[in-house]
Amino acid sequence: MERIYDRVALIGLGLIASSMFWAMKRDGNLAGEVTGYARTEATRETARRIGLCDRVCDSMAEAVKDADLVILCVPVGAMGPVMEEIAPHLKPGCTVTDVGSVKGDVIRSVTPHLPEGVFFVPGHPLAGTEHSGPESGFAELFDNRWTLLIPGSAPDEVVGDLRSFWERLGANVDLMDADHHDLVLAVTSHTPHLIAYTMVGVADDLRRVTDSEVIKYSAAGFRDFTRIAASDPTMWRDVFLTNKEATLEILGRFTEELFALQRAIRTGDGQHLFDYFTRTRAIRRGIIQAGQDTAAPNFGRGPSGQK
Ligand code: NAP
Repeated sequence: MERIYDRVALIGLGLIASSMFWAMKRDGNLAGEVTGYARTEATRETARRIGLCDRVCDSMAEAVKDADLVILCVPVGAMGPVMEEIAPHLKPGCTVTDVGSVKGDVIRSVTPHLPEGVFFVPGHPLAGTEHSGPESGFAELFDNRWTLLIPGSAPDEVVGDLRSFWERLGANVDLMDADHHDLVLAVTSHTPHLIAYTMVGVADDLRRVTDSEVIKYSAAGFRDFTRIAASDPTMWRDVFLTNKEATLEILGRFTEELFALQRAIRTGDGQHLFDYFTRTRAIRRGIIQAGQDTAAPNFGRGPSGQK
């Protein structure tokens, strides 16, 4: 297949960037040279050691020089400052995209720094694990998962190239506007993470259940929560600070439903509980049929949590 971009720059070399690199290599001809930059010398050294990127650069300016596609793979709160730093070094006509989990805030912080003649097409792969860092990536991460692109005012051919790029990384691609993205993700990802963090925090506080009992008798429900609650603290702090409105709205709805279930338990309203759980089971089956998860035990993931 034809090459889409002669030079691709990855800014930030964690789980998502490293998975994108290995998926580009798996394709063979998707990108010419892939450069990479990470903030700390330690991450750059690790990247060089494991062969992550064709060339690891010591500055963002060097990494983005002559790049046709620049991919911002840093926490959401760092997107604006990173864009400000790379702006003077971008090649005219290049495409900048990002992989951040929140879109409205990223657009608001990146766009003011965008030079004339450079296109910004925000993106978000709906794929990840609780692992982070340059060594956590794998080529199959995006296979058959959705990536959402926010076309904004970018020309059709610019969006089309980025769409083809993601499809060759293994993803299915949909276009969406930023506000809708942030609401959808508040329901499907952000609020569930907050609930998992809370549940693990609560268990930790329960002095009547010892730490060793919590670990030893961890049943499937709690174990799944602990996996999610092990996700990167910086990334998730930034998600909640930047997708504030949508998350608060969904949390309000969640609290109301939780109170209704609490009342049903107290009053012995088994019918309410049964009907509720019947409805939620149907939603779970729908997710499996849509290919966003698997019915295999432990969601088909190995002991490390990776697919
Ligand atoms: P990660 O593994 O923690 O890697 C983050 C990278 O960003 C590291 O290379 C880190 O550099 C760099 N970085 C951190 N803070 C920075 C700052 N203030 N300025 C410049 N660079 C900074 O993260 P990830 O999981 O790949 O996530 C990257 C982005 O993808 C985030 O925006 C996240 O919302 C989004 N995302 C994540 C997932 C997921 O499940 N993890 C899924 C979809 C989208 P050092 O290593 O040198 O510190």
